[in-house]
Amino acid sequence: MNILIKNGHIIDPANNIGGKLDILVSDGKIAKLGKPGSLSADGAQVIDATGKIVVPGLVDMHVHLREPGFEYKETIATGTAAAKSGGFTTVCCMPNTNPVNDNRSITEFILSQARNASAWVYPIGAITKGSKGEELAEMAELHRSGCVAVSDDGTPLMNAALMRRAMEYSKIFDTLIISHCEDSTLSDKGVMNEGSISTELGLRGIPRAAEEVMTARDISLAGLTGCRLHIAHVSTAGSVDLVRQAKKKGVRVTAETCPHYFSLTDEAVRGYNTMAKMNPPLRTAEDVAAIKEGLRDGTIEVIATDHAPHGMDEKSGEFDHVPFGIVGLETALGLTLKLVEEGVLTFTEAIRKLTLNPATVLKIKKGTLSPGADADITIIDQNITWTVDSSQFRSKSRNTPFNGWQIKGRAVQTIVGGRL
Ligand SMILES: [Zn+2]
Ligand SMILES: [Zn+2]
Repeated sequence: MNILIKNGHIIDPANNIGGKLDILVSDGKIAKLGKPGSLSADGAQVIDATGKIVVPGLVDMHVHLREPGFEYKETIATGTAAAKSGGFTTVCCMPNTNPVNDNRSITEFILSQARNASAWVYPIGAITKGSKGEELAEMAELHRSGCVAVSDDGTPLMNAALMRRAMEYSKIFDTLIISHCEDSTLSDKGVMNEGSISTELGLRGIPRAAEEVMTARDISLAGLTGCRLHIAHVSTAGSVDLVRQAKKKGVRVTAETCPHYFSLTDEAVRGYNTMAKMNPPLRTAEDVAAIKEGLRDGTIEVIATDHAPHGMDEKSGEFDHVPFGIVGLETALGLTLKLVEEGVLTFTEAIRKLTLNPATVLKIKKGTLSPGADADITIIDQNITWTVDSSQFRSKSRNTPFNGWQIKGRAVQTIVGGRL
């Protein structure tokens, strides 16, 4: 099937394109870009994108799809449907499933489930067997079977010597190491950011140092080994600064943050709001300002969701006992566009952090409208104002702190591999 997208304003950071162009899609690939009206459309399905912005399909490098093992929270089918609805055409799924994705058979299972999914799925393998932090997983096997990175996300890898060995091993295939930075001896049984609000609420705090100590350790080890390190979900001012300094020194480090870390502070926990419980926890206004500055100056090149679905019954217990995490695929674009309205990022920069940058970090051929690339295209109406209604989510789960928020801008059409 051929598709002609007409009269849209194209923004493609990969090719430095920003202007009115038509796009022709043929056999699932981008065939041609041309001046409005210049492309012939014999038999093509025509989409009129007048007044809309057309960008490469968004790439989310940090998602929990929960399959295998936790299909009541999310499946590869529902998670990718949520992705598509939010404008994401590619997602990377973290390995903390049950069983953990630490070997070829789990990776192959995920890829086979993803074959008919609504978005492209790239698995991330575990660094250690069962993500237990005791013994390295077979990184070569994971790499060969299709994992684009390794991570023990969800459980901190406390053994520094083991992390060093993983980093050394990763260099054979130039595998990306994604670090969930948390020193569990410092976070201990904490449930929210340590500060005046945790004191006031009588909740156990997680100090910012729990993240920063580990960020510093892994940057130091990346400097020692020369591996490619990606810091997941940066939440503190101190971590932003550590990454900034490391980049100046030439360490091969990249970083991501998530919309909740630039949209909310620990004030959101008031009332023991379990929808505001995530790991790392929501921090302070000072941290939010530093995250925005890190996004603005390029220290943080990727915006990812850390989409972490949980059942409503699981999230509605006592604050101390409910699991960490929120869903994010269906709100991320709108929350990111808020940064454009605030003047933190240009529209192009925002799209770059949701497309080209994560694809570059992962070394996957995504996030571009280059002719020959998979026809992954997101059409955005930046003038639509809408209210987040979690009951309408495509995700199986509803755990979001943004329910009822008024958001401006959303994906109105998402094309994955030439499929509408
Ligand atoms: Zn994590
Ligand atoms: Zn995660």
